[in-house]
Amino acid sequence: MPPAIAVRNTATGAVSKAIHHCGECKKVPTQRCYDKYHIANCEAPSGKSGAPCGVKFTVNSRGGCLKHEYHNGFNLRFIRLRRGQDPDLKSRWELEQEAKAREEQKTAAAAAALAAEAEFAARDPNTDWHRHEKGPAKTKTKNKQRKN
Ligand SMILES: [Zn+2]
Ligand SMILES: [Zn+2]
Repeated sequence: MPPAIAVRNTATGAVSKAIHHCGECKKVPTQRCYDKYHIANCEAPSGKSGAPCGVKFTVNSRGGCLKHEYHNGFNLRFIRLRRGQDPDLKSRWELEQEAKAREEQKTAAAAAALAAEAEFAARDPNTDWHRHEKGPAKTKTKNKQRKN
């Protein structure tokens, strides 16, 4: 007699021992866990046959399949599918990617601001604030529209 709930490796039919519990329900995974994309079977081609790896993994986890991690581009489909049901879902992996992108953007914006400043200073030789400290206060150049 097979057990009441057997979670099988889709590729080989072998009962997987990798995950005993759904990472979100903290219980033995049921079909609902697959339907809700709590867990999924790894789709990465594995071995010489190119058959899918089939290892069960928690979708909303840092790496996904232990052998085929999200950051290597595997199984990202499941994150998108999961988001279809849960639009606000961000996996920890994605949050990290976003944080990284934000940092890069910040660095790029800072570099652009510096470049713009340098360009402005180079264009306007009269802007020598240090030597004219005692002179009449200069009004800031107004950004008038020149095109009518
Ligand atoms: Zn679950
Ligand atoms: Zn895998």
